[in-house]
Amino acid sequence: MRDLLGGKGAGLAEMTRLGLPVPPGFTITTKACHAYARSGRYPPGLWKQVEVGLAAVEAKIGRRLGDPAAPLLVSVRSGAKFSMPGMMDTVLNLGLNDATVDVLARSSNDRFAWDAYRRLIAMFGRIVKDLDGREFEALLERHKEAAAAKKDTDLSAEDLKRIVAEFKGLYRERVGEEFPQDPKDQLTQAVAAVFRSWNGKRAVDYRNFNKIPHDLGTAASVQAMVFGNMGPDSGTGVAFTRNPSTGEKQLFGEFLPNAQGEDVVAGIRTPMTIAQLRDSFPAVYGELADIAGLLEKHFRDVQDIEFTVERGKLWMLQTRTGKRSARAAVKVAVDMAREGLISKQEAILRVEPMHVVHLLLPQFDERAKASARKEGRLLARGLNASPGAAAGFASFDPDEAEAMGRDRKKPVILIRVETSPDDVHGILYAKGVLTARGGATSHAAVVTRGLGIPCVAGCESIVVDYDQSEFRVGDKVVRRGDFVSIDGSTGEVYEGRIPTIDPDFRKEADLQMLLQWGDKERRLQVWANADYPRDAERAREFGAEGIGLDRTEHMFMEPDRLDVVHEMILAAPGYRKVSAEVRALKSEIESAKQGKREALEKRLASSKSVQEELAGRYLGSLEKLGRLQKKDFIGILRAMQGLPVIIRLIDPPLHEFLPKYETLLVQVTKLTLARGNPDILVAHARSEEEQAFIAEVREAGGGDLARGIDALLPKKQRLLEAVAATREANPMLGLRGCRLGITFPEITEMQVRAIFEASCALAKEGVVVKPEIMIPLAGHVNELKVEREALESEAKRVMEREGIQVPYKFGTMIELPRAALTADQIANHAEFFSFGTNDLTQTTFGYSRDDAESKFLLDFVERGILPFNPFQTLDREGVGQLMRMCVQKGRKVRKDLEIGICGEHGGDPSSIELCHELGLNYVSCSPFRVPVARLAAAHAKLRNEVTRTEDR
Ligand code: ADP
Ligand code: MG
Ligand code: MG
Repeated sequence: MRDLLGGKGAGLAEMTRLGLPVPPGFTITTKACHAYARSGRYPPGLWKQVEVGLAAVEAKIGRRLGDPAAPLLVSVRSGAKFSMPGMMDTVLNLGLNDATVDVLARSSNDRFAWDAYRRLIAMFGRIVKDLDGREFEALLERHKEAAAAKKDTDLSAEDLKRIVAEFKGLYRERVGEEFPQDPKDQLTQAVAAVFRSWNGKRAVDYRNFNKIPHDLGTAASVQAMVFGNMGPDSGTGVAFTRNPSTGEKQLFGEFLPNAQGEDVVAGIRTPMTIAQLRDSFPAVYGELADIAGLLEKHFRDVQDIEFTVERGKLWMLQTRTGKRSARAAVKVAVDMAREGLISKQEAILRVEPMHVVHLLLPQFDERAKASARKEGRLLARGLNASPGAAAGFASFDPDEAEAMGRDRKKPVILIRVETSPDDVHGILYAKGVLTARGGATSHAAVVTRGLGIPCVAGCESIVVDYDQSEFRVGDKVVRRGDFVSIDGSTGEVYEGRIPTIDPDFRKEADLQMLLQWGDKERRLQVWANADYPRDAERAREFGAEGIGLDRTEHMFMEPDRLDVVHEMILAAPGYRKVSAEVRALKSEIESAKQGKREALEKRLASSKSVQEELAGRYLGSLEKLGRLQKKDFIGILRAMQGLPVIIRLIDPPLHEFLPKYETLLVQVTKLTLARGNPDILVAHARSEEEQAFIAEVREAGGGDLARGIDALLPKKQRLLEAVAATREANPMLGLRGCRLGITFPEITEMQVRAIFEASCALAKEGVVVKPEIMIPLAGHVNELKVEREALESEAKRVMEREGIQVPYKFGTMIELPRAALTADQIANHAEFFSFGTNDLTQTTFGYSRDDAESKFLLDFVERGILPFNPFQTLDREGVGQLMRMCVQKGRKVRKDLEIGICGEHGGDPSSIELCHELGLNYVSCSPFRVPVARLAAAHAKLRNEVTRTEDR
């Protein structure tokens, strides 16, 4: 029914059927809209049917359209299958003309009749003839000023009569013909305009944004008018059956006496609250409350209703499912399930994963926000384009934003008139984005939503001045470097800093309840990615059932270990080389003749001493690191108390642990130039980095710059050489992952030793541990095979030495297409697979993510070349197909193969649905995403069930 009548028409029909007070009317279907769109004409026979419908309405009311004795007035209202509030058009008061306005004036009151007529002319001009509504507004304002009227209701009938005359004049001037006096003519034109509004820009944008198909079309409802502008005992209102922002079960809304249509939300006068309506119109309120309850029971969901009171009598004009905030969605779903209105499964499906994301995003501290408002720091309001709250330094330049955000780690809000692909490098490092122009599908909105950064877009009241690096709102100025705070969930922009708080999951009782219901439904487990014990603890609080990814390299990056790590990396290649030499010499000596042997022995001795020296540095550093890693592993394994913990061995290329080559090169050059002339160093130091470098030099010289230069230069030179030696043309595809462990086996052996020493120690204490060792980036089965064999023997050695056995698994990441394609071979050597979908997406598309996202990818998404960012949402057709093949091949060889996903996709609802379909065991995501993933996993299961029963 909604397909044909649209939501509004269907709602009106349903309310009429329930016996509620609805002004009589009928609906022209969406089919007619299609026909009209195709041919620009009404389909044959349509107008006959309209006449019949109209006659029925006329008979019910006892008035007729255009009848000079008893005129009927009607509205023509748009309404599509999915509600698109305010996006299409409606014309009120059709049927008024120079003759009927007099009749209406005589039979009711003068003021009201002329008020209705001026509204009709302006609305008709604006909607049917595309005139600029502001011209009518301006005329009205002028008359209000002349009459010293504060509000529209202060205008007298005489004022309004003059306004009508001027409106008609304006209409004639702009359209080139008189305002149509024939009510049938008005009606025909209005219906056509409503049909046309389906393809209006606003409507098209809205559909694009909300993914509503463009071929649905709108219906047009013709309905007898009721009047809220007949005097103080009349009015118009809107209400929600429950509070749409908190979800509380209480009628919530506004009522504006002596007003018509949208006046109540247009802000022309301050409306009264529904609570005040109860005091002023108790009978109306009582009836409204009863109807609200009835509608909610009938539709089994929160209703958003429109009503009008005409001389004390209540009329219902619309009902639809109420849009609601994240908080309200959760509360209403849980409450309604408890009230028995809906099932628990329905309650789960009523809450969108995005709602949970919103609820758990950082938000402004409500009290700080309230006081900011009181202090007048609310600067402006724009479109809530991407949720979350952020505060930072104002920057008007994407280069500066990038430098501040990335290099200086300062919070930045990037402010632009609008953004373009040229700004993306700045957006990437901003905490939030504010634009003066652009809607919900503007570049800024699309990009920030894709990146999960808060954004307020289309904030028209700010005037951005790039030359001055500032923006103005009224008489206020915000300059570059000033603090601003933006709330992407509400669209508010504040001056100064408002502290943000991370929401407290423990206090979200309704959400927890809902997720528990969902846990009983879902089949996928939800694990978390956590590198530190505190992350692991948080993950458990959020309901994680395991750790899917513990990245050990973060343990290398801690500042207090960096020196040890440098030492280890610098000595590793030399140690490897000299060890090979020693091996070669030894075998040469065995087969060498007596005479040659002596020389060889000498060389061996010298190589051995070099090896020893390097071993001290390399193996010595590894041992130190091993002790530290053991502590880390104890922490995380203890926090997870018997839940599986997947520990990934070192993965990134070694140079990521070293200073940047470019930085070192600059520093060495500077030091070389400044030798003997230390002032050069100081003379040109501007940036914070340069200042920091000078401080480092000074410290190296015990406070003396010249001495510092001499001391530091050779050190930096050595480092530069080592860094140069680890440099790669394409590190993403270079010496990393299991290739690293195969090349430098001592590093991964140290890690495995630490894992098993930690596990054995805990097991002796009686703590249950389940370590799973994950070998990254295997592409060929032999890579995995050699690595696993070496590491498993190390593990066994430790357990033997400790005299205790712990359960463990060895497995691998699937992040290269070749691994997915040969999953059957790989499964022979792996007890588990974990899809590393970030790398798998990179290698399947052949994109390097950082380069792609900062150079072209988001542009491709905006232009529709790519349907979405494949690093946010799994690409089903490509990457998904590899995953499907991998699961099938892997399980064929090993039936109980544990398979999960540990990329960022593990927290993305649509990717989670794919994981469910592929039959994975778990998804693993960041701790904050765990609640979202729990809900999304339940949705995936419930939705798949629904489609299955529908198929039958
Ligand atoms: P929208 O979809 O933008 O809400 P509507 O078709 O609901 O548009 O109409 C706009 C306004 O006019 C609403 O406030 C509605 O209640 C009011 N309205 C529509 N038809 C009538 C009518 N027949 N009598 C009185 N008010 C009406
Ligand atoms: Mg409406
Ligand atoms: Mg990877």
